[in-house]
Amino acid sequence: MGKTTGFLEFDRKVEAYVPVEERIKNYKEFTKPLKATELKNQGARCMDCGIPFCHSGCPLGNLIPDFNDAVYQAKWEKAAKILHSTNNFPEFTGRLCPAPCEEACVLGINEDPVSIENIEKNIVETAFKNGWITPEPPIKRTGKKVAIIGSGPAGLAAAQQLNRAGHAVTVFERDEKVGGLLRYGIPDFKMEKNVIDRRLEILEKEGIEFETSVNVGVDIKAQDLKKDFDAIVLCGGATVRRGLPIPGADAEGVVQAMDFLPQNNRKVDGIPYQGEELSAKGKNVIVIGGGDTGSDCIGTSIRHGAKSVVNFEIMPKGTPDRPADQPWPFWPMRLRTSTSHKEGAERVFSISTKKFNTDKSGKLKSLTTVEVEWVKTPGQRPQLKEVKGSEKDWPCDLALLALGFTGSETTIADQLGLELDQRTNIKASEANYKTNVPGVFAAGDQRRGQSLIVWAISEGRQAAYHVDSYLMGQSNLPLKGEGDLPRI
Ligand SMILES: Cc1cc2nc3c(=O)[nH]c(=O)nc-3n(C[C@H](O)[C@H](O)[C@H](O)COP(=O)(O)OP(=O)(O)OC[C@H]3O[C@@H](n4cnc5c(N)ncnc54)[C@H](O)[C@@H]3O)c2cc1C
Ligand code: SF4
Repeated sequence: MGKTTGFLEFDRKVEAYVPVEERIKNYKEFTKPLKATELKNQGARCMDCGIPFCHSGCPLGNLIPDFNDAVYQAKWEKAAKILHSTNNFPEFTGRLCPAPCEEACVLGINEDPVSIENIEKNIVETAFKNGWITPEPPIKRTGKKVAIIGSGPAGLAAAQQLNRAGHAVTVFERDEKVGGLLRYGIPDFKMEKNVIDRRLEILEKEGIEFETSVNVGVDIKAQDLKKDFDAIVLCGGATVRRGLPIPGADAEGVVQAMDFLPQNNRKVDGIPYQGEELSAKGKNVIVIGGGDTGSDCIGTSIRHGAKSVVNFEIMPKGTPDRPADQPWPFWPMRLRTSTSHKEGAERVFSISTKKFNTDKSGKLKSLTTVEVEWVKTPGQRPQLKEVKGSEKDWPCDLALLALGFTGSETTIADQLGLELDQRTNIKASEANYKTNVPGVFAAGDQRRGQSLIVWAISEGRQAAYHVDSYLMGQSNLPLKGEGDLPRI
């Protein structure tokens, strides 16, 4: 795979970025693609390690050494076929995946890992540019009907797989456009929405029906869908946001990230939005929560023209290097610095917000915080302890709550009598994605809880195999880690 001596000859190289002062003037993606020769050299760094741990690092089981080799040999069409054999939407993961594969790369033990994610993105972009990605409608229809609820990456992956198996697939989506968090959560500067539209066109030409602005459970009862379809796949995401129940939480200026980000994405797309405009312009913004959502709030606030942006994280500051107790090839909890962090946010770790303070009219004017430490006792989970005398007030007129999601909504579960897990996600085994009600399946964040795009695609694919098996008695759809390289 790759070039035998490639990892000795070439250093890791990834896409460069447009300078901060330029990119914050708009919402466009800001990466600068690598040249074809640079990509060839990066593919050459893959070292034929024998047991490619990157396969198991990737939740899709992407055949990484095989596409790296194809890129090294400049066989781009072959690389695209290999990539699409395990991943329906590499244009999403190639831009947005945190790349657990790279943490599991054998070269990463003592060198910089292969730039797998960048290679993936370039393969799919080359394929689109050359017209190699075309609709693949099924040759024969089975006469079975499948309803998919939710059009995020899990729903779209399940839809494409089940349509390929010949079933008539309808995707129901309550938003006005398809894409789930890809469209309404993730800002355009991380992924422009024409990337979703381009793929959507292919899915529609393959014969998948999309019913948007339909809230299942409200506009159509789930029991009625159950009567009309042979199987249902619930891919509604984990949409219940975590709040911060402290004094002043209802102040004007305390805003959920998932109100702020979707409104901004709608504005950028020219879609009308409801409610008051949420703007960070000229404000002292504090983003509470240090994950992806928090990072997206930072980049968006900076593009609005915020006066200052501070990011609070309750966990201690990690180290950029892999911690000793989280050895290769596992995913390490290290300090990660996103492109948005680099655009001008102050990051504060080991901090907890105690109070939102308001002026007489109820408007947010500051936050009171306390420093915290995490006390470790052998055999127990670390305990949070407040540091005495560490209270501090921070001027703030917009606090964005980016604290994650506690679980999924339960309307459909109530209507169908579905069992839930402890976190109100739909209970369905990872072995077959079946709920307790025959013919009803669940996948993605709605089953596993708040997670990643790569996991959502993986779950959508796996669930599709089990739905197809349920409908037909057996399935020829691929399962993760099974099957051969596509014949090319
Ligand atoms: C701000 C933000 C940034 C993120 N950034 C990243 C990132 O950079 N990389 C990454 O890997 N992951 C990221 N994630 C996580 C990732 O987006 C999710 O894990 C992934 O989108 C889950 O996919 P899904 O298909 O399960 O659900 P979702 O994408 O949540 O899609 C669910 C869809 O179901 C629809 N729906 C729900 N209920 C109904 C109903 N009753 N009727 C009709 N439709 C319904 C919803 O409207 C939604 O469109 C981010 C998440 C957020 C919030
Ligand atoms: S989908 Fe993510 S984990 Fe899998 S190969 Fe691509 S970047 Fe790596």
